[in-house]
Amino acid sequence: MDTPAASKARDASPPFPYLLTPGPLTTAAATKLAMLDDWGSRDIEFRALVTSIRTRLLEIAEAGAAYECVLMQGSGTFAIEAALASFVPTDGKALVVMNGAYGQRAGRILDYLGRAHAVLDRGDVAQVSAHEVAAALDGDAAITDVFFVHCETTSGVVNPVDDICAAVKARGRRVILDSMSAFGALPLSMDAQGIDVMVSSANKCIEGVPGFGYVLCRRDLLQASKGRSHSLSLDLYDQWDNMERTEQFRFTPPTHALVAFAAALDAFVAQGGVAARGARYARNRDVLLDGMRALGFKTLLDDAVGGPIIQTFHAPADPNFDFGRFYEELRGRGYAIYPGKLTRCPSFRIGTIGQVDETVMRGAVSAVEAVLGLLGVTNCAPA
Ligand SMILES: *Cc1c(COP(=O)(O)O)cnc(C)c1O
Repeated sequence: MDTPAASKARDASPPFPYLLTPGPLTTAAATKLAMLDDWGSRDIEFRALVTSIRTRLLEIAEAGAAYECVLMQGSGTFAIEAALASFVPTDGKALVVMNGAYGQRAGRILDYLGRAHAVLDRGDVAQVSAHEVAAALDGDAAITDVFFVHCETTSGVVNPVDDICAAVKARGRRVILDSMSAFGALPLSMDAQGIDVMVSSANKCIEGVPGFGYVLCRRDLLQASKGRSHSLSLDLYDQWDNMERTEQFRFTPPTHALVAFAAALDAFVAQGGVAARGARYARNRDVLLDGMRALGFKTLLDDAVGGPIIQTFHAPADPNFDFGRFYEELRGRGYAIYPGKLTRCPSFRIGTIGQVDETVMRGAVSAVEAVLGLLGVTNCAPA
């Protein structure tokens, strides 16, 4: 792994920590270096690069000849909004499965769009079961589309994609999957699982920099979506149609983010693809959980439902624990972590994705131990 502070471009900057915050996350030197060149968006080399990114994403997702890949400028939410606007028919109804902030956000997007939707809300800790989704579908024949999140980054819980997809497909509805924080690390086979639409972004498990998201979807759904989007800039059909005809974005593409992503994809493939990436992240998780538990921390999730993407820890009840100071001191030692995003109990999160390995994780645990000593926290048990 590269040391973030070793980057030459940062000579005049403060030391940069490992970003244990998925994401943006820590990227490889080759990914950063790819951004030193200024590419012209209409040049033939750049257009070929855009097309190759689209093709390679389809391969990683095991999406067959019936699928297309559309890139969309913006953060992941822009791509989610584009997908919901393009694929939930104006006279259709979505079932939004919620077990954290990203499911809730999809519900808000549908509110903005004025599209009918039902909600299956499981709070922000529990895994969603296929059985519950099946029951919701059996109880409402009007539902056309099911939106759910692969790994809810709010807590790190991984939902059972295989089983949920099977339940949805058996009932003849469409699957719109937010695999933002899981794609590239957890196995996915769009063809085999019958996933109609999958959305992810550049700065998660492929380890690119922020700047665009991507929607992988069935071509016939794209074709049927012509004229449906409420938004010109988020119109997936229009973006796809233009990419097919010209290999170009309609509007200014994030050129540097795209060449960085192409470099990140090269490394992803060279390192062994989804299986190898998932295995590295799982080792990161194991080292982090072992170390934190040895210090007395309790995880929010059972290991059976928490994935290798992000780990949530209960905040210690010890009165000397002050999250603001804990965060600042850890950051000063080279590790940026995430505050909790849970509605009910105080917590914090440590990401296990990005260009980090077991050595980095051991370093993070040692830094946590040192900071606890500094703060005078002697008991890490939650309230
Ligand atoms: C990161 C993420 C998103 C998108 O968030 P942005 O801040 O818009 O990039 C959506 N869903 C999940 C599960 C995520 O982890």
